[in-house]
Amino acid sequence: MTDTDKTTHDHDAANENAIAAFFNDGSTPKIGENFRAGFVAIVGRPNVGKSTLMNHLLGQKLSITSRKPQTTRHRIHGILTDDDKQIVFVDTPGIHKKEVKAINERMNKAAILALADVDLVLFVVDSLQWREDDLLTLEKLAQTNLPIVLVINKSDTVKDKSKLLPLMEEFSQSFDFADIIPVSALRGHNLDGLERLIASYLPLRPPIFDPEQITDRSERFLASEIIREKIMRASGDEVPYDLTVQIDNFKDEPAHQDPETGKWRKAVTFIDATIFVERAGQKTIVIGDKGSRIKQVGIDARLDMEKLFGRKIMLTLWVKVKKGWSDDERALSSLGY
Ligand code: GDP
Ligand code: MG
Repeated sequence: MTDTDKTTHDHDAANENAIAAFFNDGSTPKIGENFRAGFVAIVGRPNVGKSTLMNHLLGQKLSITSRKPQTTRHRIHGILTDDDKQIVFVDTPGIHKKEVKAINERMNKAAILALADVDLVLFVVDSLQWREDDLLTLEKLAQTNLPIVLVINKSDTVKDKSKLLPLMEEFSQSFDFADIIPVSALRGHNLDGLERLIASYLPLRPPIFDPEQITDRSERFLASEIIREKIMRASGDEVPYDLTVQIDNFKDEPAHQDPETGKWRKAVTFIDATIFVERAGQKTIVIGDKGSRIKQVGIDARLDMEKLFGRKIMLTLWVKVKKGWSDDERALSSLGY
C-alpha cells in the first residue's frame, strides 16, 4: 500500500464530478447484455510508447510521456468506457535489466505485480528497435498464463510497410502470441483495430468502475505527476529521471464570504509540493536563472491542475536535495514507493 493508494478515495469522492466533467462529453453509456469489461496491462521496455498508446486510446492525456525513459513510476489506471466495453488500463513502469538501485528493483516488482489481476497483456515493442531488454520482458511474461498481444508500435517510422511483415513473422516464431498488431500510437494508426482486439479478449461482465470515472487515482497523485512532467519538459536532458515530487499539503478551501469585506471568494485548493533531486547541481538547474525555470514549472502545472480539477489552485513549490534517495529503501518508503 502506498500513500497514493491510501488517498485514492478521499479526494475522488468529493471531486469525481469535476474530473468526470473534464474528461467526459457528458453522455452516459448504456449497458447491455453483451458488455465486456476487464483489466489490460501495457508492458514493454522504457520508451517504446506505452504511455502514448494509453493516452491516445483514452483520447485524453493522463499518464505522462516524455522523450526520456522511465517517466512513469506508478501504476496508473486509465479507464475507457463506451456502449459495449470498459477497458481498464494499467500502465506499468518498465521492467529493468540492471537492478542497480533499490528503486529499479521496486519498479520491477511493481511491473510484475501489475500483471497479477489482469485479463490481457499488451506487450509493446518498437518497430525499429528490437533489443535484449524486450526478450527479458518477454521471459517474465512467459511465466504468466495470460493471453499476450504483441503491439508493434511506431509503425509510422517504417517507411516501407512491407518491411513490417518479416518482423511480424519473426516475432510470431519467437513466442506464442495471442495476436500481433502493428500500430502507431502517436499518429493513431490502427488504434480502432487494437481497441476491438482488446475487447474480444475481455470477459462478459458489467463495468468494473463507474462509467463516468476515468481514473481511480487521487487528485494528489495526479498533481504530483503534473508537476513532475513540467520539470522534465522544462529541463530537457539536464535533469535525470530520478527526481520525485512529494505533495506536502493538499487543502481545499470552499467558497466563502469574507467576514471583513463581505465579498464572496471562490473555492480554492492550496497545494504545497517538494521536488526532491539527488545533487545540488540538479537543484540549480530545476530552479533556473533567478528562479525562472521553477516559476514557469509552477505556472504551467497550476494551469493544468485548474483545468483538470475544475477550480482555482494555489501552488507552492520547494526544491530540496535528498542525496542518494533512490538508493535508500527507507527514504523510498517514506515517499510512498
Ligand atoms: P514509454 O516509456 O513506453 O511510456 O514511452 P512514451 O509513451 O513516453 O514514448 C516515448 C517516446 O516515443 C516519445 O517521444 C513518444 O512521442 C514516442 N512515440 C510513442 N509512440 C510513437 C509512435 O507511434 N511513433 C513515433 N514516431 N513515436 C512514438
Ligand atoms: Mg511511460
